Amino acid sequence: MISRLDNQIALVTGGSRGIGKEIALELARLGAKIAINYNRGEAEARAVAEEIDKLGSECLVLQADVSDKNQARGLVNQTIEHYGQLDILVNNAGITRDKTLKKLSDEDWESVINTNLNSVYYTVSAAYPSMIERSYGRIVNISSFVGQAGNFGQSNYAASKGGIIAFTKSAAQELAKNNITVNAIAPGFTETEMLAKVPDEIREKILAKIPMRRFGKPNEIARAVVFLVADGDYITGQQINVNGGVYM
Ligand code: NDP
Repeated sequence: MISRLDNQIALVTGGSRGIGKEIALELARLGAKIAINYNRGEAEARAVAEEIDKLGSECLVLQADVSDKNQARGLVNQTIEHYGQLDILVNNAGITRDKTLKKLSDEDWESVINTNLNSVYYTVSAAYPSMIERSYGRIVNISSFVGQAGNFGQSNYAASKGGIIAFTKSAAQELAKNNITVNAIAPGFTETEMLAKVPDEIREKILAKIPMRRFGKPNEIARAVVFLVADGDYITGQQINVNGGVYM
């Protein structure tokens, strides 16, 4: 039986759809109060908040572009102002701008690094002081197996996701004595809008490389996040692979 999260406050970046939405719902099912963030999809974010209300929990909806340091930090601060504390921070927001090095522009590089990696530093740096004060924090950063294995046409994305793993291990070492755990989840290919952008013939090739011969479901990633924050009290600095065996 997974432990309850009653009286805990969780912020999920990019919680309006895909993996982030499932993470927010799973946390709410266990009793946590939620803040979700979106950048563009307000209607989708509001729909998630309604689902959370129906589960008997609460959901604060916050617009912010996490690639912007002031907006990312503002997101954490608004959550703490609203609920009075922050126990769980899930850095999930992410984008792809896939191109081979030959075609990659500075803008493609910078937007992916700012959105996927720099955002994690911004939110964590805003969140940890109040977590230290309360001697409690659970931080989960959503990386990718691409950050471990690399991938053709994804040098910007791979660098951002590999950077998340390295950041996670360093932050975990610094914050462990304050009972703040910092872990990364590295999903494999997961059925969301991000994967829907991949052309069909490439999806077929990808499937052939996955030992379990199927894509992951967003909820399968969410349940690993929930395990870490609800029952992973002695787990920190780890990268948990939820990938159907595509990288071992
Ligand atoms: P989606 O594209 O389905 O959702 C992305 C979410 O991030 C949306 O809520 C989006 O909100 C939000 N977002 C994007 N840019 C920003 C921004 N600048 N500021 C704030 N929010 C933003 O992605 P997935 O659910 O597939 O991915 C979630 C995470 O999992 C990402 O970090 C991704 O890299 C990672 N991952 C995904 C895999 C997959 O196969 N799907 C595999 C491995 C890792 P909005 O629409 O409002 O902008």
